[in-house]
Amino acid sequence: MFEKSFAAAKFPVPKSAARIKTDKKTKSVAVIVAHPDDETLWAGGTILSQPYWQCFIISLCRKSDPDRAPKFAKALKVLGAAGTMGDLDDGPEQKSLAENEVKDMILRLLPRLHFDLVLTHSINGEYTRHRRHEEIGKAVIQLWHADQLCTNELWAFAYQDGHKAHYPVPIKNAAVYNQLPQPLWDLKHRIITETYGFEQNSWEAQTTPRAEAFRQFSNPDEAHQWIDHQNTAS
Ligand SMILES: [Zn+2]
Repeated sequence: MFEKSFAAAKFPVPKSAARIKTDKKTKSVAVIVAHPDDETLWAGGTILSQPYWQCFIISLCRKSDPDRAPKFAKALKVLGAAGTMGDLDDGPEQKSLAENEVKDMILRLLPRLHFDLVLTHSINGEYTRHRRHEEIGKAVIQLWHADQLCTNELWAFAYQDGHKAHYPVPIKNAAVYNQLPQPLWDLKHRIITETYGFEQNSWEAQTTPRAEAFRQFSNPDEAHQWIDHQNTAS
């Protein structure tokens, strides 16, 4: 309790967050990411600006990382969210995981299987390249399509790095595009630099997007076509 109020006092949500359109309905929201910090980098401003969302955030990797796991718990407090972690392989060689391993981990970590909204990675990832991001984006859509996970809507992070030409930037014509007011971006940036402890010149701190973009789906068939389309294209 002490820690929670301390976190809230140290990181007050700026009033200007109200400039992002507030969703007035209480919504149960699952945020499904690969690593502790992905929730903040790709969706932190949006989460902070929605007081009626009840977010449950799962990070599929790094549960036994003694550095990152406690930082994730602190970030959850600042984001006003609950959540938990899993321990999928996250070695630097990024070996492919079996689809079922990723899906089983998602189903095991979520406290229930029906949400109003699910936020997760793009099937193309957010930059070139982290395989876990892509695998998780696909697994979530497949679970939704197979009725193993129910949600009214799915929003996939929409960023690109021009095939490594620059830091990841939000895709301008994405269905949801939230420009973060400066104080809200400052707060998000502090979660990355203070809560997670990334140096100012780190990739994470330099990346921290100033707007957040999402591809939006309200129908699992449509989301699944995105995967099919990618498979035919490659
Ligand atoms: Zn990540």
